[in-house]
Amino acid sequence: MEHDADILIVGGGLNGPALGLALAQGGLRVAVIDARPAPQRAEAGFDGRAYALAIASKRLLAAIGVWGALDGKVQPILKIKASDGRPGQGPAPFFLTFDAGELEEGPMGYMVEDRHLYAAFLEAMRSAPGLELISGETVVAQDGAPQGVTVTLASGRVLRGRVLVGCDGRASGVAERAGIKRQGWGYGQTALVTAVRHERNHEGTAHQYFMPSGPLAILPLPGGHHSSIVWSEADAAAAAIQALDDAGYLEALRPRFGDFLGEISLAGARFTYPLNLTLAEAFVRPGLALVGDAAHGVHPIAGQGLNLGFRDVGALAEVLILAARRGEEIGALDVLQRYERWRRFDSTALALGMDSVNRLFSNDNPILRAGRDLGLGIVNALPGLRRGFMRQAAGLQGELPKLLAGQAI
Ligand SMILES: Cc1cc2nc3c(=O)[nH]c(=O)nc-3n(C[C@H](O)[C@H](O)[C@H](O)COP(=O)(O)OP(=O)(O)OC[C@H]3O[C@@H](n4cnc5c(N)ncnc54)[C@H](O)[C@@H]3O)c2cc1C
Repeated sequence: MEHDADILIVGGGLNGPALGLALAQGGLRVAVIDARPAPQRAEAGFDGRAYALAIASKRLLAAIGVWGALDGKVQPILKIKASDGRPGQGPAPFFLTFDAGELEEGPMGYMVEDRHLYAAFLEAMRSAPGLELISGETVVAQDGAPQGVTVTLASGRVLRGRVLVGCDGRASGVAERAGIKRQGWGYGQTALVTAVRHERNHEGTAHQYFMPSGPLAILPLPGGHHSSIVWSEADAAAAAIQALDDAGYLEALRPRFGDFLGEISLAGARFTYPLNLTLAEAFVRPGLALVGDAAHGVHPIAGQGLNLGFRDVGALAEVLILAARRGEEIGALDVLQRYERWRRFDSTALALGMDSVNRLFSNDNPILRAGRDLGLGIVNALPGLRRGFMRQAAGLQGELPKLLAGQAI
């Protein structure tokens, strides 16, 4: 079978472009197919959607030629404060502070807006030799043949490749068509996402308040006076808040947010995301691999979803590029299982870890509340333990793929 590309990537959200760029840099020919027309997303105005990227993710973006385009558009996270809270009462006396000064590698991470990150990916994809971006086209069918894989687009075009990668998000059609089942559960929570403008400078500090109804994250954006809000509430409460007009929404947010940044006003669009945990039962099949949210969708409580996806990207790129260099058949199951062995345990452990943290904190049980406050206080008092948490959050623990360790493949 003649191949249009070595790797067919379904999904050009964020993990798809990152993987496409890494593979093309390693000499493989790649097609990235996305249902959404690319310019639509790249040209979006400020809407407040942003990601907390760990240091290891920054290294990946630098290695694949994307970080340079984000110069001046990212906000370093210099401090993280985590505390128990109740609306109107402010944070509990025990809180946990992580300070970038304690990490040799610099800031704990960076906040970057979705529109800037995607635009940087798009620019890099357009000039990457060996990478074809097919946007505004939906994949409707796929087939695994002994000599390779095919995907059929809604337009009727058929593409042939050696490996098919599903980067098509939580409701992955690639996984479904391959008969890969998913496990998981809903949290009964919805994340309200927006941005606020505030009077005082945030000084690069990210806040995480653990409210009985769900966590509230206040994440610093560039310029000092805007923050991105990820505010989890029980489904019904979130629907009621989302239905309010802007003034009512702000009234509901204010007692949760507190007054430490002075007067606040709404500055972004208002989004909602139903929260669930979803794990694919397998990450690979012969000729096929799943990456990012298609493999594992986690609770956004620690802002780790995309960071986990970038770890998959680094691992799969390394496995495929090294296998191709050795002359191995890159779609063979034993090659792809190297990726699965590398990534499955880490992502499952993190997904379940975020699940436990959410369960422990999203309630008002006085015994649990006292216990977790004490826990936060103890971790805060022990610099060694605190640094361990910080290295974990910065994505520096575990067996890092080369691209995330700042090395070439
Ligand atoms: C409220 C919230 C806050 C978050 N905050 C953070 C954070 O601070 N830090 C962090 O690391 N992560 C965060 N995350 C997680 C992060 O958003 C996701 O992990 C990440 O967006 C997943 O990227 P992806 O490329 O795997 O999938 P997606 O972004 O879902 O992209 C999937 C792509 O596949 C395409 N597609 C689907 N089906 C087809 C088809 N049949 N044919 C063609 N194309 C198709 C879609 O058009 C889409 O572009 C957050 C998530 C939520 C919900």
